[in-house]
Amino acid sequence: MTYDRLVCANCAAPVSEGRCPVCRANRERLQQESPFAGLNPMTLIALLAVLIAAVALLAHQTA
Ligand SMILES: [Zn+2]
Repeated sequence: MTYDRLVCANCAAPVSEGRCPVCRANRERLQQESPFAGLNPMTLIALLAVLIAAVALLAHQTA
């Protein structure tokens, strides 16, 4: 979603236009990674928050 604003370092055109092999390679890579790139930070933060809450709860109960 954000890759269409990226400018290629090789041809200085938007990567989304795929004007050169570098653009196309970057576009494919970013398209493959974008679902995870968009999800990972949020998922990671959510998991971390759950983990911290669980640990805090456990520490409270046992102590
Ligand atoms: Zn390019």
